[in-house]
Amino acid sequence: MQTKKIIVVGAGPAGVMAAIRAAELGQEVTLIDKNPILGKKLLLSGKGRCNLTNACGLNSFLERFSGGGQFLRDAFKKFFNLDLVDFFQSRGLELKTERQLRIFPVTDSSASIAGILEKELAKQNVKLMYKSKVNDVRVKDKEAKGVSLDDGEFIPADRIILATGGASYGFTGSTGEALSLARKLGHDIIPLRPGLVPLVTKEKYPRILEGLTLKNIRISFCSAKNSVTSEIGELLFTGFGISGPLVLALSGKIVDWLGEKREVVAEIDLKPGLTREQLDSRFLREFKMNAKKGIKNVMKSLLPLRLIDLFLELAGIDPHKKANQITSGERLALAGLLKGWRLNISGSLPLEEGMVTKGGVSLHDINPRTMESRLIKGLYFCGEMIDIDADTGGFNLQAAFSTGYLAGESTALS
Ligand SMILES: Cc1cc2nc3c(=O)[nH]c(=O)nc-3n(C[C@H](O)[C@H](O)[C@H](O)COP(=O)(O)OP(=O)(O)OC[C@H]3O[C@@H](n4cnc5c(N)ncnc54)[C@H](O)[C@@H]3O)c2cc1C
Repeated sequence: MQTKKIIVVGAGPAGVMAAIRAAELGQEVTLIDKNPILGKKLLLSGKGRCNLTNACGLNSFLERFSGGGQFLRDAFKKFFNLDLVDFFQSRGLELKTERQLRIFPVTDSSASIAGILEKELAKQNVKLMYKSKVNDVRVKDKEAKGVSLDDGEFIPADRIILATGGASYGFTGSTGEALSLARKLGHDIIPLRPGLVPLVTKEKYPRILEGLTLKNIRISFCSAKNSVTSEIGELLFTGFGISGPLVLALSGKIVDWLGEKREVVAEIDLKPGLTREQLDSRFLREFKMNAKKGIKNVMKSLLPLRLIDLFLELAGIDPHKKANQITSGERLALAGLLKGWRLNISGSLPLEEGMVTKGGVSLHDINPRTMESRLIKGLYFCGEMIDIDADTGGFNLQAAFSTGYLAGESTALS
C-alpha cells in the first residue's frame, strides 16, 4: 500500500483515534490541535473519571442516540465497546464496569486514558502539531489538498480528517469554527443546540432549593404535542431550574420542543412507587397517628425538609395547623403535589453549557461506511462535529472513538 500524507485536525478522542489507526496502517500522519495538549474535554469527562464507554449491547447502545443512531452501525461494526476496552486493557490500563454498565478506568482518572493515547501516538510516530489552529481547508476540483494554519502556513495532504468537536465548553478548544469550514465547502450544517443541558424554570423557587437532590423520583415533560417520561432516578435543583441525570438525559428533546415555540411543563412524581390513592391513605394514617402534632412536623416523614414550607404554601395550607385540622381537600392537594408537582420550563442553559452539541455536519453529506464527505473527495469527518449526540453513560465518547477509528482506517485503505 502506498504511504499517504494524512492530516487530522483536532486532538480529542475522535481525532486521536483516527490518527492512531491511520498511522498503525502505515500512513504518514500529522495531528494538529490549537491546544498545547491533547483531549482537554476528555480530561473533564465523567467528572474527571472518564466514562469512556458502556457495556450494553449494540441495539440498546444505538437507542441512546438522538434519532436512533443507525448512522453509527458501520462505525460500531468496525470498532465497538469491547474493542475500545481491549484497546486500553492491552496497553496496561484496567477498566471497571459501574452501575448502568458504565465503563471507567480503575484509576478513576481521565488522565490515565489520555496518557495511554499519548503513548500510542508516540509509538505510531504520529507528528504532533499543538498550538496550531487550522483556519482553512484547501480544495481543488472537489478534492481535499491540505490545510492552512492561522499563521499562514500551508500543509499539503492526501487525506484530511476533521475532528474538531462540537461547540460547547469552548475553553477546551471545541468552539465550532471548523463547522464553518465544512459549510464553506458546501456541507449542510444542522443547527447547533445544547444537549445534556440543565433546564430553566419560569418559577423562581428552585433558587431557594439550590443544591437539593431528590432521589427515587420520576419526571415527565409534556407539551401540547408530546410527552416523555423518565426512568426513576435523581433530580437536582439549581439556582435557575432543574438538572441531574434524569433531566440531562431528556433535555435534548425539551430544547427542540422549546425551539418550536411550544409550552413545556415538567411534572415531578416524588412517590413513583405509590398511586395517588395509596399516597392519600398514607397521609390519612400519618395524620391520624399524629393528630395533635403540627402539620410541618408530620410532613417530615413524607417530604425532604427543604420542601415542606414550599409544598404547604403551594397547597394553600396554613403551616400552623395541627394534623387533625387538615381538610380532605387540603390533603388531596398535598397528595396531588407529591404525585405531580408542575414546573413550567422556560428554556435551557446556552449551548456553551451543554455537555454535548446537537447538530453539526449533516449525516446526508457523510458516507457512514467510510466517514468520507460525499461532496469533497479525501475529506473525512468524525466525532462530535457530525450530527450525532447521545445520552450520558459513555455513549458520546464511544461514538467519537468509533467514528475516529473508521475515518482513520478509511483514509489508509481508500
Ligand atoms: C463536562 C463534560 C463531561 C463529559 N463526560 C463524558 C463522559 O463521561 N462520557 C462520554 O461518553 N462523554 C462525555 N462527554 C462528551 C465527550 O467529552 C465528547 O463527546 C467528546 O470529547 C467529543 O470528542 P471529539 O474528539 O469529537 O471532540 P473534542 O473532544 O471536543 O475535541 C475537539 C478538538 O479539536 C480541536 N480544534 C477545534 N477546532 C480546531 C481548529 N480550527 N484547529 C485545530 N484544532 C481545533 C479542539 O482544540 C479540541 O481539542 C462530556 C462532555 C463534557 C463537556
